[in-house]
Amino acid sequence: MKLTVIGQWGGYPKANEASSGYLLEHKGFNLLIDCGSGVLSKMQEILTAEKLHAVILSHYHPDHIADIGVLQHARFIQGILGVPLDPLPIYAHSDHPYEFSKLTYKKITEGKAYVPQKTLKIGPFRVQFLLTSHPVTCYAMRIEADGKVLVYTADAAFKSDFIPFSKDADLLLCECNFYCHQDGRNAGHMNSYDAGILAQSANVKKLVLTHLPHFGNIENLKKESAQKFTGPIDLATHGLTFTL
Ligand code: ZN
Repeated sequence: MKLTVIGQWGGYPKANEASSGYLLEHKGFNLLIDCGSGVLSKMQEILTAEKLHAVILSHYHPDHIADIGVLQHARFIQGILGVPLDPLPIYAHSDHPYEFSKLTYKKITEGKAYVPQKTLKIGPFRVQFLLTSHPVTCYAMRIEADGKVLVYTADAAFKSDFIPFSKDADLLLCECNFYCHQDGRNAGHMNSYDAGILAQSANVKKLVLTHLPHFGNIENLKKESAQKFTGPIDLATHGLTFTL
């Protein structure tokens, strides 16, 4: 599996960057994980919208779904221009029926509800879900292919269920919206210590901090997490790739 960070900002994108979006590729299958603001623009530096095979969404906050509409437009316009395109499946939970209904657009995209209690197969990937502690219904994902494991926390306050869920992952893509001296629980987010403790407790091979805050020196997040996790840590940044 190859993971590419498209956007790493929490809440909204910095100028010329993107909020949550990650491209996961394996055996020629291109899966976009979350599609926040700026993602369609930044993704095209790596891959055009026509080349996607599926999208999966953790929840319906704008910094995770804002670019779904323009992704639909891009596929619609490319179709008119003669690019043969099948409807693009967009997997998401259906707890919010209005938001879910917008994922289906003409024959361009098709919303597909995942059942969080069941393992979902998408192309070469097997996806398991964990309900997170966040102000709206949100699911973390454990994605496996050919014996390799990526865990994406999505937006989440720390909870102990994350430890078995993330166990022995090759890469933990962990949200980190706060610094160690801040308590993110009420906002439904983790801080740098939470991320480090989770990585250490779950014995993951690598920790990547994402959903980054717009305040403070984000390099400090890495230093703080390193007080709790002895393995390698990276800060997510656009274009950064990881091969699992
Ligand atoms: Zn959120």
